[in-house]
Amino acid sequence: MGIESTADDFSVGVSTFDGEILANVTDAYVPIEGGIHPREAARHHADVASKVLGGAFAKSGIRPKGLSVLAFSQGPGLGPCLRTGATVARALASYMGIPLVGVNHCIAHIEIGKLRTGAKDPVTLYVSGGNTMVLAFESGRYRVFGETLDIALGNCLDVFAREAGLRQNVGVPFGAVIEKLALDGKKLVPLPYSVKGMDVSLSGLLTASVALLKKRDCRLEDMCYSLQETAFSMVTEVTERALAHTGKKELLLTGGVAANRRLQSMIRAVAEEHDVRFETVETQFAVDNGAMIAWTGALAYTHGVVTPVEKSLVRLRWRPEEVEVPWAE
Ligand code: AMP
Ligand code: MG
Repeated sequence: MGIESTADDFSVGVSTFDGEILANVTDAYVPIEGGIHPREAARHHADVASKVLGGAFAKSGIRPKGLSVLAFSQGPGLGPCLRTGATVARALASYMGIPLVGVNHCIAHIEIGKLRTGAKDPVTLYVSGGNTMVLAFESGRYRVFGETLDIALGNCLDVFAREAGLRQNVGVPFGAVIEKLALDGKKLVPLPYSVKGMDVSLSGLLTASVALLKKRDCRLEDMCYSLQETAFSMVTEVTERALAHTGKKELLLTGGVAANRRLQSMIRAVAEEHDVRFETVETQFAVDNGAMIAWTGALAYTHGVVTPVEKSLVRLRWRPEEVEVPWAE
């Protein structure tokens, strides 16, 4: 079983050691106004924990006694949210007398992506509400080849949408609202394009986009279109460079923003140009989910990794390259 609680989602998944996903149940915290408030999100997680756990047990048909390992997202993420998930995990593991495995959230996104697509050794572009990274396996670890220097791509889209007064609904996140409006965009408005080496910077782009929007001399559709084109081109550029540098033969797109058709087509185009296989993950496994924690916990556990309770403190800034991943060799 895996528990995910790094940000706005509380999710519990159940996986077999062969990678069959038996359950993946999520309850998302939706702020009434503004962005994610960490303490409110954590309160949400505590409120829904027993319901989501119950749902995962029911869906999987596994009884608590049937579990062998309890995995949890140990970081990176928001402190109060992480601590709530870790507390639930410790309590369950100790009650059932089974080992605990702390999983790195970014690595879990890669592993579930590999599992679901059959990719063996991809360059991964992971773009979500809280993370923007280009990763690939090299010398025993997942190395970060490029990343955002400030805000995440999903966060950039979400803040822009809020500033524009847009509304998101259950099943239609802000990124999807922007995607739809962008389809009616006709004019490409020049916006700051900031790639620094292998990294991207998105905060200047966001500020400029919001400022133009407030001046009201651009159509919202044109702004959504231009924001997407500019931001997506930036992450595509560094992804292409990582691909050229590593010479890997697969390109995996994951994270919540991976649902975006325009981003998919840009990344697919890069893959085709380099003659590599393009893969993206079904949305339920691309967004934050408990199944990816369960599966990565299973991989780690079968390679001798366990996390004693005294080492189970959450790690807010835990970087993927700090983790040895013997199962990926
Ligand atoms: P995650 O952080 O992985 O749970 O994913 C949530 C992020 O994905 C939010 O920033 C959403 O706005 C974004 N997102 C979801 N669907 C889309 C889409 N179709 N296009 C762009 N971004 C999206
Ligand atoms: Mg989320």
